[in-house]
Amino acid sequence: MAMTYSGLYLQTRRTLKEAGSIAADLAARELVCSVSGKNRETLIRDGGLYVPPEIEAQVAALTARHLAGEPVAYIIGEWEFYGLTMYLSPKVLIPRPDTECLVDRAVEYLKTQGPCRVLDLCAGSGCVGIAVASQVPEVKVVLGEISDAALKLCSRNIWTNSFSGRVVPVKADALQEPDPRLGRFQCIVCNPPYIPSGDIPGLDPSVRDYEPHLALDGGPDGLAFYRAIAEKWRGALHSGGRVFFEIGADQVLPVARILRQHGFGEIQHFDDRSGLPRVVTGIRYPDL
Ligand code: GLN
Repeated sequence: MAMTYSGLYLQTRRTLKEAGSIAADLAARELVCSVSGKNRETLIRDGGLYVPPEIEAQVAALTARHLAGEPVAYIIGEWEFYGLTMYLSPKVLIPRPDTECLVDRAVEYLKTQGPCRVLDLCAGSGCVGIAVASQVPEVKVVLGEISDAALKLCSRNIWTNSFSGRVVPVKADALQEPDPRLGRFQCIVCNPPYIPSGDIPGLDPSVRDYEPHLALDGGPDGLAFYRAIAEKWRGALHSGGRVFFEIGADQVLPVARILRQHGFGEIQHFDDRSGLPRVVTGIRYPDL
């Protein structure tokens, strides 16, 4: 029997809800929009139109993949972050709403700084650095990333969000000294891998089985990247420049300690929208 677009959306939502999906509305809408080439508005506008059978079949196939555990963001290859569309692949983390807190804090600081350079280290899809550029027109942003597959996505996301003049992707290994040709920055924003290696097997299967461990694994205690960046990338910050780190569970005190040990001060931490500590920041003190 022929089905309309709103019928297809409702049926997909019901299937997902019955299988226990927590965000069935969002998932159903994203899957139907992606397969039919519609956006939220045109899906509503065309709700009464009949769906070609091949679209119905494709939505059913993608719904089955999601029910088997695959995140919708990887199935459709894009996700929204800070009001921007980011292209994704399983080579980068899916942008999380928690990470918008990192952007909020960096933006608040950068709005007081005038024209300056910002480094997004461990950039992944580039979502953090591109969101910062979207909010602060005076800044230029470098997206530093080690994975070639992620760097390709950074380029694509810079291009499709129209930031080619102000945001550039650069290959960089956060665990090693930076190439001096990168120059200095007023601000480093960084959502590094921070899950302790031993906790990875216990992560939710939708994360553990689908997201890249390269972007999750922060070494034996989860702190390897904070240590390397505070020590080796300190010189890439201007004296008085500020680093903003996203952190995981129970990492406020150890990350604050690492920053203090490496000549950072004015250390503060901030909660995300769920009330969990999510960002630690400090400034680079002048060398003694
Ligand atoms: N927030 C992510 C998670 O909990 C981890 C992100 C990271 O390691 N940077 O799965």
